[in-house]
Amino acid sequence: MNEIQDNTVDTQDEMSGILSDFSQFYILLLLSEGPKHGYGLIKEFRNRTRKTLSAGTVYPFLRKLEERELISKVDMSGGKRSKLVYSLTVEGRKFTDRLFQRFASMTASAIEPSLDVCVSCGVRIYEGGYHEEIKGQLLAFCCSHCAAAFKRQQ
Ligand SMILES: [Zn+2]
Repeated sequence: MNEIQDNTVDTQDEMSGILSDFSQFYILLLLSEGPKHGYGLIKEFRNRTRKTLSAGTVYPFLRKLEERELISKVDMSGGKRSKLVYSLTVEGRKFTDRLFQRFASMTASAIEPSLDVCVSCGVRIYEGGYHEEIKGQLLAFCCSHCAAAFKRQQ
């Protein structure tokens, strides 16, 4: 095996590691939307991500969540065949809230360095904004009012 092939193998290993974490994250996301049965999780995961989630990933993870009392299992059959539905417990809801919050701040810190900051008021400009050339420099503002305020101060 030459070096290029070795690198390819390493990248694939790394990808599968990340992907297994991603599917667990996604299972929690689906459960946070409402109670789901195991097969429903697998189906929705496939519909939304176009990726296959194996039963061997879902059920051991659900068992782990149940052991930690983050989810509870209810039999919703009402008839002959059992149909187990998993839903977040109060603790589970707190857990996913924390997880999504952390994830949100993580993605925000990934986006923010590339954002313009209004020269006048200092807010980050997420969309559009207002640009004006002042003394030969193109400056970024959140809006024309901030640009006007900035020029008054000059
Ligand atoms: Zn501004």
